[in-house]
Amino acid sequence: MTQPENSTITFPSREAIPRLGQGTWGLGEDPGRRDDEIDALRTGIDLGLTVIDTAESYADGNAETLVGTALGNRREDVFLITKVSAENAAGTGAADACERSLRRLGTDRIDLYLLHWRGASALDETVETFNSLIAQGKIRHWGVSNFDVPDLSELTAISGGTAVETDQVLYNLARRSIEWDLLPRCREAHLPVMAYSPLERGRMLDHPALRTVAERHDATPAQVGLAWVLHQDGVCAIPRAGNVEHVRQNHAALRIDLTPDDLAELDRAFPPPTGPTPLPII
Ligand code: NAP
Repeated sequence: MTQPENSTITFPSREAIPRLGQGTWGLGEDPGRRDDEIDALRTGIDLGLTVIDTAESYADGNAETLVGTALGNRREDVFLITKVSAENAAGTGAADACERSLRRLGTDRIDLYLLHWRGASALDETVETFNSLIAQGKIRHWGVSNFDVPDLSELTAISGGTAVETDQVLYNLARRSIEWDLLPRCREAHLPVMAYSPLERGRMLDHPALRTVAERHDATPAQVGLAWVLHQDGVCAIPRAGNVEHVRQNHAALRIDLTPDDLAELDRAFPPPTGPTPLPII
């Protein structure tokens, strides 16, 4: 059977990445699961899920170390994302955090470096540090995560702030609040939204509507949840799978074409927002 196509999404810098990638929150915590987790990531890379998202905070750095091991000699095949925690980004702190991440990841460059959440520190200093890391070749692009509309406005008003490449936020069928304001704003600015927890961490997978739609496509509820996120314009997604079977299923979700009836049924079960609400954060 032919591979389903992992279509791309384009950053403001014009670089394009595949829309379906792999998350790593929770990986690297249990040494007994290490081999399965490495197999899962490598299988994903083989299948074309070559965007890998991690963070310095995941498993206290062990997720980055696990990703470095999984990459082995495949570094060139992957678009590697990691994040600096807000408390480490004050002043020029992101430069030191970046060095630590590079060491754990076993690489000389990060493709996309994100500020994990807004935090209290001065954004202009973080942006300056990010842009200096680009000049040094240690990161190729930078972006933000968990930024709501006012945070993005603040960011793009400061010098160099429009170089932001993505906003990584919580988005899935059960968490649609960004559709009110953040998603339209990002679409207007051609800023891709990177959906984290696209499966709601597994908590929505028993929903009857998801099951019904899944049966119509001979698919699983998780696959329908992913297909729905990928159906949204201007959005890419980084589901986390801890085993090879889940990675294969997630990849196969690229093949699912949701019909207007499916979408209407999912809208009834998981209604879109009817007003503004603050961006939820997991
Ligand atoms: P998620 O991807 O929504 O869900 C992960 C859960 O879904 C795991 O329990 C996983 O189980 C299960 N799962 C995966 N594929 C499945 C399948 N095909 N069938 C059934 N269950 C499946 O949650 P997430 O890990 O929170 O989010 C994804 C990634 O986004 C994270 O790993 C992280 O990289 C990023 N993230 C970023 C932020 C941020 O603040 N920027 C916050 C949260 C997450 P198994 O482990 O058993 O496969």
